[in-house]
Amino acid sequence: MPIIITFDDSLKNTFDVAYPKMKEYGYKGVVFAITSMLGGVWPDPPYKDKPQMTWDELRILHKDGWEIQSHSHTHPYFTQIDRDTAIYELTVSKRLIADNIGKAPTAFAYPFCPVAYEDLVAQYYRTGRTCYEALWDGRPSAFVPAVVVDTETYQNTDFWLRFAKYSYVVFYMHTITDNPDFFELSPDQFDYFLSRVYQSRVKVTTFDQKRSLALPLSLLGAGTASIAYAIIRSGF
Ligand SMILES: [Zn+2]
Repeated sequence: MPIIITFDDSLKNTFDVAYPKMKEYGYKGVVFAITSMLGGVWPDPPYKDKPQMTWDELRILHKDGWEIQSHSHTHPYFTQIDRDTAIYELTVSKRLIADNIGKAPTAFAYPFCPVAYEDLVAQYYRTGRTCYEALWDGRPSAFVPAVVVDTETYQNTDFWLRFAKYSYVVFYMHTITDNPDFFELSPDQFDYFLSRVYQSRVKVTTFDQKRSLALPLSLLGAGTASIAYAIIRSGF
């Protein structure tokens, strides 16, 4: 089944480094953008002072077939905000992306991972993505794995590409940098990931191209992805 390659946090090196490398392979990616930060810098560790993409850069990506989806307006923990704030985060980011890109987002990625207000996410978006195990398609019970690719996990790419025989797999990554830390990736590690994807001949798609994720739920349950995740974190 196809995979989806996503980039969280709208960091500028997604445009400067990941975009040209993806283009070499003809792959289209997905940016989960934090709409209040665009054009500025990330305020806190671990990405303190790292520049964000601009709307102009996001428009270039969109014109080239990438998708610009929502990672909220200000990147709060959804488990720590009230319901009205959650509505604000979901709707303001959606409207800003629709206004500035010309295409409303259909997928939402939870900041930091923790899931809350699934009913609201389902109301405003077709797809919700958490960090480690799950992505759902308007139905919180449905899921496919969402797998982080970073300096600790990139060598497990082949494992997840084999997993893609049975399920959609959503890969997500953050920043690509020369001295990668946890949740970061070096340019060489990103090249490794892309070359493995290419050699596997798996199809790379995006959320809107694959409007309905037909999930083999009989094969999979939330536990399966957790176990698989534990396996990759422990190096199998
Ligand atoms: Zn994030």
